[in-house]
Amino acid sequence: MGELGGFLKIERSNVKYSDASERLSNYEEFLVPKPVEELREQGARCMDCGVPFCHNGCPLGNLIPDWNDLVFRDRWQDAIRQLHATNNFPEFTGRLCPAPCEAACVLEIREGDAVTIKQVENSIIDTAWENGWVVPEPPSVETGRKVAVIGGGPAGLAAAQQLRRAGHTVVLFERDEAVGGLMRFGVPDFKIEKWVIERRADQLRAEGVDIRTGVDIGVDVTADQLQEEYDAIVLSTGSRVPRDLDVPGRELDGIHPAMDYLYVRNRAVAAGDVSPKEITAAGKNVVVIGGGDTGADCVGNSLREGALEVIQLELLPEPPSSRPDDRTPWPLWPQKYRLSYAMEEGKAVEKAEQDYSIVTTHLVGNESGGVAELHYASAAPAPPFAPVEGTEGVFKADLVLLAMGFLHPEPGLLDQFGLGKDPRGNIKAPTYETSQPGVFAAGDCRRGQSLIVWAINEGRQAARMADRYLSTLAGAEPALVGGGDADEGPEGPPAKANPGL
Ligand SMILES: Cc1cc2nc3c(=O)[nH]c(=O)nc-3n(C[C@H](O)[C@H](O)[C@H](O)COP(=O)(O)OP(=O)(O)OC[C@H]3O[C@@H](n4cnc5c(N)ncnc54)[C@H](O)[C@@H]3O)c2cc1C
Ligand code: SF4
Repeated sequence: MGELGGFLKIERSNVKYSDASERLSNYEEFLVPKPVEELREQGARCMDCGVPFCHNGCPLGNLIPDWNDLVFRDRWQDAIRQLHATNNFPEFTGRLCPAPCEAACVLEIREGDAVTIKQVENSIIDTAWENGWVVPEPPSVETGRKVAVIGGGPAGLAAAQQLRRAGHTVVLFERDEAVGGLMRFGVPDFKIEKWVIERRADQLRAEGVDIRTGVDIGVDVTADQLQEEYDAIVLSTGSRVPRDLDVPGRELDGIHPAMDYLYVRNRAVAAGDVSPKEITAAGKNVVVIGGGDTGADCVGNSLREGALEVIQLELLPEPPSSRPDDRTPWPLWPQKYRLSYAMEEGKAVEKAEQDYSIVTTHLVGNESGGVAELHYASAAPAPPFAPVEGTEGVFKADLVLLAMGFLHPEPGLLDQFGLGKDPRGNIKAPTYETSQPGVFAAGDCRRGQSLIVWAINEGRQAARMADRYLSTLAGAEPALVGGGDADEGPEGPPAKANPGL
């Protein structure tokens, strides 16, 4: 373990971000790295608990006390080996994960005192890249089996890397111009600069993964063609159908699903031209409907674009400021209020506010057919969150962004494959194998809208099941065994014969 009783002597040091008002002038990553000595001290706070609840919190089953201790002992190269054993892309989770591991850390019994696991994770991987310890790991044996991975988000990238390292020939198809999925075109550069994703894509290429961007499977290549050509298929197409707003006035101009706006902004930043584009917040009164991560990223972009004012609305009541022990006691994820980075920025320049328990009743347009006003009322505290009479109000709104979550994957490709779906419309694949033999599913398209850490876990698990299936076809031993299996899925059924072979 770290230092005996370290947590009694050393205080938790929180993650640092650059100044909230200054960072609005650019799109650069705002996470401020900590000096090595401070990180080693933070690692020393870990108690190496007999029952490390941090493991339970982490969907990847990361070996957290092990690498906390290695950092404390200044053994960074050993630490990255341990970290990579369960997580293909710690620089994604180290920057973007909400850190359920910290919420579950035993030290968090004293609220706000958890080991700074996420920050230690991020520094291990950043140190590893800086020192050239992250290198391509191509397989030593080729199996001759071909796998197609559809979708290059974190789930598809993890599945492709795992399958390639097991010796299979892997082609990753991505319909956008670059891989990364929502992490690339949804999450802004100030949370993760996109070279961080491209650096990993280069590693996959160097390992032998054939990444083909700009290919829309189901349109450019049919499901039948794929099944004929490949021995196994992993679908990791994400959950991309946005929840819409069913109120009068929805048809007015200037009302967009959040991802339409975020695609435009991320592409503008990637092109090095951040001037206003076809959807813009510059000089506008912006209303963002939805209080989650996606909504926050809309607020952050709108502020950087120079919006007049940004209002973020949430249907649910404002959560309590500390862990509600009667509802989500430790080690569960606490449903408590968190000031988002975007609201911190908005408050710093007095241009943004977030309102809770608000239901939109209708939208009113101007003479040219554009949205001009959002009419609302306070929402009753429980479903169906009906408007409370006498609480009505109006916000000026020249741009309305709908960040109310995603319903399920786009059904077209799923139907081409003839896949079974769960009641929510996600791919039904309790053991990662779908209703079609040899076709597997991972990430948001299987579990519904979720987190990057879950997508990586799902990619690894689906790869393991696909590898087992392929090995059975070849009469060989599977190469991918265990490896951070934190999911609820059972080991899975015996592999079925592939009618395509
Ligand atoms: C704005 C926003 C911010 C977020 N912020 C965070 C955060 O801070 N932390 C966090 O943990 N999670 C965050 N999330 C959630 C997280 O990004 C997702 O859970 C995660 O990306 C899901 O990974 P995935 O690989 O399953 O799907 P996606 O990331 O959606 O990737 C699916 C990929 O499949 C491709 N694709 C789809 N159909 C086809 C086809 N027919 N042919 C070829 N390619 C196809 C898509 O283009 C896409 O690249 C955020 C989500 C959004 C929208
Ligand atoms: S629960 Fe916290 S203190 Fe215990 S092993 Fe995990 S990180 Fe260390």
